[in-house]
Parts: sequence; structure tokens; C-alpha cells
Amino acid sequence: MNARTLYPAERGNLRLSFEYFPPKNDEMETQLLQTVQDLSVFAPAFVTVTYGAGGSTKARSLTTVKRMIGEMGLENTAAHLTCVGASQAEVDAVIDEYVACGVRHFVALRGDPQGGIGSAYQPFPGGYENAAALVKALRRRGDFEISVSAYPEKHPESPDVAADIDMLKRKVDNGATRAITQFFFDNNDFERYLERVRRAAIQIPIVPGILPINSLTQVQKFAGLCGSKIPEAIISRLAHLEDRPAERFKEATHIAAEQMVDLARRGVRDFHVYTMNRSPLVTAVCDLVGYARATEAAQERVVALRTRTVAT
Ligand code: FAD
Repeated sequence: MNARTLYPAERGNLRLSFEYFPPKNDEMETQLLQTVQDLSVFAPAFVTVTYGAGGSTKARSLTTVKRMIGEMGLENTAAHLTCVGASQAEVDAVIDEYVACGVRHFVALRGDPQGGIGSAYQPFPGGYENAAALVKALRRRGDFEISVSAYPEKHPESPDVAADIDMLKRKVDNGATRAITQFFFDNNDFERYLERVRRAAIQIPIVPGILPINSLTQVQKFAGLCGSKIPEAIISRLAHLEDRPAERFKEATHIAAEQMVDLARRGVRDFHVYTMNRSPLVTAVCDLVGYARATEAAQERVVALRTRTVAT
């Protein structure tokens, strides 16, 4: 047992998934593939690749998913898909392309309004009007695993949490099998939300989205846009370390690991980690929590992945 882990008692019982975004250039692609390989040692239950609203990353998302499934052998790759700003026919064509490259799990989303976060959302004429409609379309087209979004602190456009939970219920009634939350930092918010979700007779897994803080400034910006709070206690642990990267890294590792361990003590077993396509902080967090690293066989698979990728 590694004495430095925070959650040794139930080591191995916690499951992970990792989220990646499609790279914009060759350098970012190299970094992504390295990150995917590095994090493979934690044997994630699945990994996901985001998709720009309005299809802005369509080609790059497809290429990334294709490489991860076809070349790296990560059959458990889930494709995010948004329906904003696209006709049903366009969205259906993307679904078909994903299915052709082996996708069996979608993360079905509406996407942010085309005018940007904060502008009014307009369903696209002839498009799927929201995530619930997209889930329904996916369910009609195949026996996919379908994950959807959830918002413990309320979606910025939503009048209140009750409206959000109504929307989640519609997505579940249409066939969603799991919800992944927006990132949050106060576990009480998650627990309260989960209680309300269960009271609404929604039984699918609600997987907390964990965002390790690589850069406080960047995360403050994200949080402002998506309505997540960063508690003062976290800000004061990190704000004075902006110019001390080694200490900042250590503190950020502890913050995320402590959040996960506290959730685990409250009964959570599945965690979705927003990796930002970088492995060092996520690796440190998973090690500190006490996640088992790959067995010898899995290690060999990771080496094989690396060899195959270098060869391409
Ligand atoms: P929905 O589930 O349809 O709606 C979200 C909430 O907004 C609802 O609960 C509802 O209460 C409220 N709402 C919706 N429409 C209205 C309306 N017209 N008026 C009032 N309230 C309304 N974005 C991307 O572009 N690409 C991605 O790959 C991506 N991945 C994500 C993954 C996760 C796990 C999460 C949590 C978010 C992701 N997003 C992504 C962000 C997401 O697209 C935005 O939050 C978007 O604004 C809402 O999409 P949704 O699927 O959550 O919408």
C-alpha cells in the first residue's frame, strides 16, 4: 500500500473516465496522444472527445475519435455530439460517421447558443431542438450508451434547478443512460443536487465532473462562463502560488484529490476528469487518491499503444 494515497482502504473500487478535446495543430495532437497514453495506466472505464457547438470541430473530433479507436485500440471512446446550429440530416450524418469508426457511446448535448454563452438560444430550423431530442434520435438509431450533461449548480440559461432536473428527466425518458456533471468544487452542491435528482425518480448514474486546476485564472474564467462557483477556501490556497509552479501543482493536486476522496466517502464511485489534454496534474491526482496503476498486462498494452502511435 502506498502511504501517500488518501483513499487506500478501497483502492481499486473507484472508476474513472477522462475527457479530451480535439487538437488544433500537430503539436497539440502529439501532446494529446501522449496524454491519452500516460493516463491509460489508470485503465479508464471510458474516454470522451468533445465536439464544438455548431460542428466547429467536426473534422478534428472525428479524426481524433478515429485514431483513438482505430489506431490506439481504445474501443471505449465516447463521442460528444451537439445539435445546435445544424439540421437533423447534418447531425444524423455525423452519427453515421462516428458509428462507422466504431463509436458505441455518445455524449449527447445541445451545445451553447451560436451567439456565445449568454446569448439567447434558438433551435436551428429543421434541427434537433435540444439535447432531449438528440437523445431520442440516437436511441432510435441504435443500442448506444448515451451520456448527457447535468448541472449541480444550475445551467446558466435555466431559471432554477427544478427546470434543469425536468430537462434531465426528459433526456432520461428518451434513453439517456448516464449523466456527467459540469465541474463543481463544493461537494455539498453535488450532494443536494443528487438528492433532488433521486427524488425526481431519476435513477441513472450521475457522475461528477472533476476539474483539476492547472491555472486558477483560466478556471475562474471558465467558472464565470458556466456558472460554477470556486469557493474562497480554494482561491486562497492557490492565488498566492501563481508564480510558484511546483507548489501550485502540489496544492492543485491535493485540492482535486481531496474533493474526490470526500465524494468517495459520500458514496460516489465514478469520476469523470476534465484532463485539458495534459497528464501530469491528472496523474498526480489519481496517484494521490490511490487509483491502482495498470497491471503488467495493461502496461504492456500501453507500450504497444505507444509503439503503434510512433509508427504512424
Ligand atoms: P440541455 O440539456 O438541452 O439544456 C441544459 C439546461 O439548460 C437545461 O437543464 C435547461 O434547464 C436549460 N435550458 C435549455 N434550453 C433552454 C432555454 N431555451 N431556455 C431556458 N433554459 C434552457 N459543449 C460543446 O459545445 N461541446 C461539448 O463537447 C460539450 N461537452 C460537454 C460535456 C459535459 C459533461 C457538460 C456538462 C457540458 C458540455 N458542453 C459541451 C457544454 C454544453 O453544450 C452547454 O452547457 C450548453 O449550453 C447546454 O447543452 P446541454 O446538452 O447541457 O443542454
